[in-house]
Amino acid sequence: MHDTTPQIEMRVERFVRERIAPAVERRHVALDVTAWEVPDEPVPFAEAAAQSFTVFKPGTSWSRPWGTTWFRVTGEIPEGWGGPDVALEMVVDLGFSARQPGFQAEGLIYRPDGTIVKGLEPLNNAVPVGPGPVDLYIEAASNPDVGGHYFYLPTPLGDKATAGTEPIYTLRRVDLVERDLTVYGLLQDCRTLAGLMEELEASLPRRAEILRALERMCDVVDPDRVAETAAAGREALADVLASPAYSSAHQVIAVGHAHIDSAWLWPTRETIRKCARTFSNVLALMDEYPDFVFACSSAQQYAWMKEHYPALFERIRRRVAEGRFVPVGGMWVESDTNMPGGEALARQFVYGKGFFLREFGFEPDEVWLPDSFGYTGALPQIARAAGAHAFLTQKISWNETNRMPHHTFWWEGIDGSRIFTHFPPADTYNSDLSGADLARAQRQYAEKGVSNVSLTPFGFGDGGGGPTREMMEAAARTRSLEGSPRVEVGTPQRFFELARETHPAPATWSGEMYLELHRGTYTSQANTKQGNRRSEHLLREAELWSATAAWRGLADYPHETLDDAWRTVLLQQFHDILPGSSIAWVHQEAERNYAAVAAALEPLIDEAQRALAGPGSAPVVFNTAPVAAAGAPALGAAAGPVPARVAPVVADPGWVLDNGVVRAVFDATGLLVSFVEASSGRELVAAGEAAALLQVFRDTPNQWDAWDIDAHYRHTVTELREADAVEATGEALIVRRSFHRSTFTQTFRLAESSPELEIETRTDWQEREKMLKLAFPLAVHADRASSEVQFGHVQRPTHANTSWDMARFETAAHRWVHVGEPGFGAAVANDSTYGHDITRRWAPDGSTVTLVRESLLRAPRFPDPHADQGEHVLRTALRPAPTVLEALDTGYRLNLPVRTVTGGGPVAPLVTVSSTAVVVEAVKLAEDRSGDLVVRLYEARGGRTRARVEVSEPVERAWTTDLLERDAAGLADTVVQSSAWAAGEPIEIAFRPFEIVTLRLRRG
Ligand SMILES: [Zn+2]
Repeated sequence: MHDTTPQIEMRVERFVRERIAPAVERRHVALDVTAWEVPDEPVPFAEAAAQSFTVFKPGTSWSRPWGTTWFRVTGEIPEGWGGPDVALEMVVDLGFSARQPGFQAEGLIYRPDGTIVKGLEPLNNAVPVGPGPVDLYIEAASNPDVGGHYFYLPTPLGDKATAGTEPIYTLRRVDLVERDLTVYGLLQDCRTLAGLMEELEASLPRRAEILRALERMCDVVDPDRVAETAAAGREALADVLASPAYSSAHQVIAVGHAHIDSAWLWPTRETIRKCARTFSNVLALMDEYPDFVFACSSAQQYAWMKEHYPALFERIRRRVAEGRFVPVGGMWVESDTNMPGGEALARQFVYGKGFFLREFGFEPDEVWLPDSFGYTGALPQIARAAGAHAFLTQKISWNETNRMPHHTFWWEGIDGSRIFTHFPPADTYNSDLSGADLARAQRQYAEKGVSNVSLTPFGFGDGGGGPTREMMEAAARTRSLEGSPRVEVGTPQRFFELARETHPAPATWSGEMYLELHRGTYTSQANTKQGNRRSEHLLREAELWSATAAWRGLADYPHETLDDAWRTVLLQQFHDILPGSSIAWVHQEAERNYAAVAAALEPLIDEAQRALAGPGSAPVVFNTAPVAAAGAPALGAAAGPVPARVAPVVADPGWVLDNGVVRAVFDATGLLVSFVEASSGRELVAAGEAAALLQVFRDTPNQWDAWDIDAHYRHTVTELREADAVEATGEALIVRRSFHRSTFTQTFRLAESSPELEIETRTDWQEREKMLKLAFPLAVHADRASSEVQFGHVQRPTHANTSWDMARFETAAHRWVHVGEPGFGAAVANDSTYGHDITRRWAPDGSTVTLVRESLLRAPRFPDPHADQGEHVLRTALRPAPTVLEALDTGYRLNLPVRTVTGGGPVAPLVTVSSTAVVVEAVKLAEDRSGDLVVRLYEARGGRTRARVEVSEPVERAWTTDLLERDAAGLADTVVQSSAWAAGEPIEIAFRPFEIVTLRLRRG
């Protein structure tokens, strides 16, 4: 037989596109449209409906970027329309492009009584009408397509002030349509079969069978009478559609989903509307498809619905109760996990799960983070301690260099906690259940032969939109279809049950899951990074001193203010805000939010400290750090004053800062050329090198500007070795440098008896596409570096032996990094940034030099063309540090500077811990407002230890809980007896390496 496959394929493709698809609309008639443009920010329905609307003709342009126009649509249904084989629908084209939904104009459709019908999206633009006259409102949002074609060019569209005022969309049509259900069904048959066929091997009989069936379909459907002959076309395809799946076919649990970025190329105010559109789409689809289920993460997004769309929220609540609208993830938002501090990452679950339990009586069992940019090794323990048993992500499939070897596996954290984990092998969280996506899931699934089930989230995402009826039709046709994976629409729980059942002994991935991409997100948008860091520490201060004052009967605990501040900070940790990858609007708002958090918390801290210090006129030095600082005990206050700074001494040709503990020597240009620990005589600065050296790099990534640092940045460097001025004051050495249009002021200080050299870098940063690093070439032989993460640290090699090590050329650390050799080492701590790189090179004498660099600033131009411009102050500390515990001390002290108030005298800590390896991360009152004290501690060295915890007040009962402060038997082997303790009587606790312990105490 002659092979005419390519000719038949071309014929089928064109016949479906040109004949069948257009025939889905049997007939259409224009509806009447009037409009009202909102002058500025969006308004509620009632306010819009009360305006006077003017006639609006399709073909007319509407709304400037970020504007809103309300359309009112009216019309009669013509005589004779409707019937058993058709659906009556309003079809609207707001000026949609072929780009993905969620990145352009969108709408929300209301009835005249203010109830919501559904959203209006580029690929989901029909709404059922009838039987009576049409009378609907459309709230149309003219959101600009900020990303465009992702050429990463600077764009003014991300800021309302620069986005322009001319209308950007043209209303193309608002029609009443008769949709032919048989033709529609035929079109879906063709799409599924053609999509499957393209994925099958050319040699398979099944592929040829499908091709011949499609050819017969083309023969029997008359292009001039498609509606009349569509049933015959479906008949021609019935046999190939009825042929069941192979018994070994891969099983896909398809979970309805809409990844809605809480902010990104749009501000949060638009996300609120995106949620309303997407969720109302979902509710409408649930009415149409009884087996449709939808998984939705982020308590914040539900909370927005409760506040702004209460009726919609009640409809969601009913579907949640039925198990069809499924809250997943348990976090407040889908946060970044590289940068949020330990306590903040814990609170993502405390506030997220707290909301789900309160509103729905439902607790998600899995962590759902398809899109965050890498996953901290602390997450398995945090997730388990929050009551989760499974984890889902997707993003690691974006790795540039290495491929993750597993799709279903145990993920083991830094402490040894394990969580059952799945990466959807379809490599997308926005699937449309096309033949290509399903085949990819089957082809790539790494556990073949051992297990045979994977999860595929389907629905338009990022900017929302969600699942469509076409996706549900695709799912229905692939339930059991020869050659295709078997598709079942189900919940994540259903998937995880099946996966556990069929794969009882999965492999283990140990440690962090580093994303080999988007390494710039540890540094971009420095003000957002600093805002997060400052806010987390202000919250710690406010909680500690408020709890201390409350347990001593001196003040009420400010639950409301603290809750508000936490929720604000948790929202900014969303995976496009804290990483710095959003438009200017979002980052300006983040900075305002952080300022509001500080304005709310500073008075709380001050009031609590004054209440604790009591009346008097003596300086009282409060230390929030879990380690002693400035003469004050951990978590307590001492009589002041704070230790003075030593004065720089001229040492021609340079200066010296020497306090008898360490000695820092600067040359004539203010470069730190020597830093010696007095007790050991050890030099920290590599011979012939300068530390605290500012370096400027060209920073022009190949793509994803705000997200990415590419390895080629290292090819060009300018070292700022020249000084414009060096000036010694009574307590500091001040060095001024400049580069291009930017200026830098480095201030070096050394306090009496402190091992820490304080380095303040004040920059007026006027560069574009440049990166600023602060370099410390250290005379330390270190195979690996320790970097602080949540509740512990990770160790990463300083070499690039393997492709995995090589790809990790820029890494995230929290307050400190440590490099060491037996008996000696150095710590570099920071108060503002997360980006680091730690490498090794050779000194002329053959010894190794460990180069620690902090990434201080970048200046990407997409999506915010003015990112990082202006003044920044970042603080760093360098010290000799034999172990990570010294690094930890310095990290806390730098981030929690002591505060001096005037008062009566010292304040004893409410909580003290006997072991330096056990760190108090939070002291607060219980979420349930019972007045119980909650103390979160962790083991910080990575070893087993026992510690005594003493509380200054009598304790009636003490017990360990999960992160949500619930009794948690079996959570840890830490058992605390339920008995009474007198004030100061020690409570003994055993810790596993890096174990987090939440200790709950009832006052005696
Ligand atoms: Zn995302």
